Amino acid sequence: MLSEFDLIARYFTRPPRDAGAVPLGVGDDCALLAPPPGMQIAISSDMLVEGRHFFPGADPSQLGHKSLAVNLSDLAAMGARPLAFTLAFALPSARPDWLEAFSAGMLALADAHGCALIGGDTTKGPLNICITVFGAVAPGLALRRDAAQPGDDIWISGTLGDARLALAGYRGEVTLSDDALANAASRMHSPTPRVALGQALAGLAHAAIDVSDGLAGDLGHILARSRVGALLEVDALPAGPVLAGHDLALRRNFTLAGGDDYELCFTAPPARREEVLQAARDAGTVVTRAGTITPEPGLRLLDANGRSLDLQPASFDHFTAP
Ligand code: ADP
Ligand code: MG
Repeated sequence: MLSEFDLIARYFTRPPRDAGAVPLGVGDDCALLAPPPGMQIAISSDMLVEGRHFFPGADPSQLGHKSLAVNLSDLAAMGARPLAFTLAFALPSARPDWLEAFSAGMLALADAHGCALIGGDTTKGPLNICITVFGAVAPGLALRRDAAQPGDDIWISGTLGDARLALAGYRGEVTLSDDALANAASRMHSPTPRVALGQALAGLAHAAIDVSDGLAGDLGHILARSRVGALLEVDALPAGPVLAGHDLALRRNFTLAGGDDYELCFTAPPARREEVLQAARDAGTVVTRAGTITPEPGLRLLDANGRSLDLQPASFDHFTAP
């Protein structure tokens, strides 16, 4: 039987890779983190609860990846460089095969972004995973929600809607072939945080948010915090490759109000379009322009001919969702 301390030592403790940034990692009462000189520290936490954020019995390797990915996505949305993270979690039993896969999935993504696991807390209980990430961003360059300006272009990274399509497939709301479901579901189970793009946009874009609860709602947060409005060209939104093969109504619904996309929605001045496109090429991520920030408040949806669309995209909310 694994003890709590065996478990931490075996699956969540590794030799420090960068003693400069992390003078003291797992094993003491606190970790010590040395911020890069002159930088601000960006901090964010995200919790994943079994049965709420992921299906009971979820693949542990994908779950490890996703738990960290959704947190790295928040750093990306601020334009911050990942430094380190903590992992606080409850698990019902210490099964070595589960722990091995979970930590491997998580630490592979951590290594890919040079983000060290520096501490946490481990307890027995219903499966629940809470990660806190720490990143570095230069003063004044963070991509804040309150920084959109009238006239800014609205940009979206990657594609939207395939994770929501997979959920609809699992629920039997939409009929998908096995292949289509597997492809769409990879977006749901294994999201790609846009970390390189976020950093490339710091100092170039104005406002940004990561799209986790549906674009319309998440863009709405930028609009509210920046006290502006937007014209959004719904049919210009980049649909995921599986969703792209479906009818217009479903595409509109799931690109606007899907969840679990973990793409970046950001605003930038039209004068910097070429630089945005170059930043996206450098980061290896496609970006699509799909609207404009307006001085008048409110989100107005337009079709491909510039006509107003009367859609009511619902954003996801844990306390009002069924
Ligand atoms: P304390 O009793 O001071 O809260 P713990 O006994 O909970 O410390 O943890 C021992 C050490 O292991 C601490 O350094 C803590 O940060 C680390 N730790 C606990 N759980 C995890 C985990 N899941 N991943 C990484 N480090 C962990
Ligand atoms: Mg503790």
